[in-house]
Amino acid sequence: MFSNKHWTSARAGRHRRAMGLLLVLFGIIASPSAVLAGQIGAVEITESEITLRFDGLVAGASSFMLAGPDRIALDIAGAEVGRSPQGMGLVRAVRQGQPSADTARVVLDLVRPAIVADARFAADGRSMSFRLQPVSASEFERASRSPRARLHPPAGFRAKPPEKRYSVTVPIGKPRPAVALPRIEGPGNARLPLVVIDAGHGGHDPGAISPHSGRHEKDITLSLARAIRDDLLSSGRVRVALTRADDRYLVLEERFGIARRLKADLFISVHADAAENQAASGASVYTLSEVASDREAARLAARENKANIINGVDLGAHSGDVSSILLDLTQRETMNVASDFARLLQREASDTVKFRTNAHRFASFVVLKAPDTPSVLFETGFISNKDDGAFLASADGQKKVARGVRDAVQIHFARQIAAR
Ligand code: ZN
Repeated sequence: MFSNKHWTSARAGRHRRAMGLLLVLFGIIASPSAVLAGQIGAVEITESEITLRFDGLVAGASSFMLAGPDRIALDIAGAEVGRSPQGMGLVRAVRQGQPSADTARVVLDLVRPAIVADARFAADGRSMSFRLQPVSASEFERASRSPRARLHPPAGFRAKPPEKRYSVTVPIGKPRPAVALPRIEGPGNARLPLVVIDAGHGGHDPGAISPHSGRHEKDITLSLARAIRDDLLSSGRVRVALTRADDRYLVLEERFGIARRLKADLFISVHADAAENQAASGASVYTLSEVASDREAARLAARENKANIINGVDLGAHSGDVSSILLDLTQRETMNVASDFARLLQREASDTVKFRTNAHRFASFVVLKAPDTPSVLFETGFISNKDDGAFLASADGQKKVARGVRDAVQIHFARQIAAR
């Protein structure tokens, strides 16, 4: 499919990934920012060629295609997103996202089907170019089912992986046994909708830490989850389960796994953000998307997805390759329901909870990846902000958050029943 010899075969890529899965590195003493070597400085589009320029060295690139609408996605390992130009020629639009902390994704929305051809890095590794070769719709469809094609910068001009001070390798043992399912609370009527509330973080993952009070996000999210549960139960119209009712650690897959195993109708993961800028305040609601709505959403997703990594060990199911999880069509309906709920939550809760402008955002959050459970991540505010932090830590503030969620949940299910 690719006319260029520089792209290594997908088989070799798979082999390397499989080898990678056998090894888990302990205690990688490197700040995450050290992993990022280059930023995408520019994406240049001419009639004949597309060029990505990098501010520094990157580790490699891979490409894959998505049909209906037709898109080309390029993942640049060891890079951060930069600015996107206007589309031109075969490219309708260019978008960028950060599917994981060390990978930038450039998505080209195509005017008509085309594949990547003649891809190569410049001799100094600082840019990568390719042509778009128009193909038929059926050829594109076939290409979209193929594995990624990979491309590496010339040896000597590749970003190095972060330095490790020490490492221990251990074989990954048996898969983690499934966590015990939590109790479903509320009326014993199994026909009533079930809402799973997920208190973010927990155990040895504190989440964000307030610079003012020293409070941990994991404690605030647990209090909020309990308040939301109590308010929902008092309505008598829904059943509720908490992914955790105490201070314990769960990987992200276990959180949405609980919702799936319980066949939940709605999954709400509760968080409280922190930002370097202490003036940042207000709540937002995130839903799942392949490409983040903005740079900040991408960064937040990268940070939240790190909850799976404790002491350098990725405890999640898919070894950090978050970027490879693409959303299939069966997920679209679930995502639409989640988006409807996100809008409703903002509308219903904004009387009592302060929201940010553009409060509904999108990014690639692992915890939202249940294909069959509409899921939202509710960032209830910034604990790095004095007012937000005090509000979220107070019983009164928690009740206000809970009331907003309850109102949105009730309208949501009333609409769902009416639509049937
Ligand atoms: Zn969080």
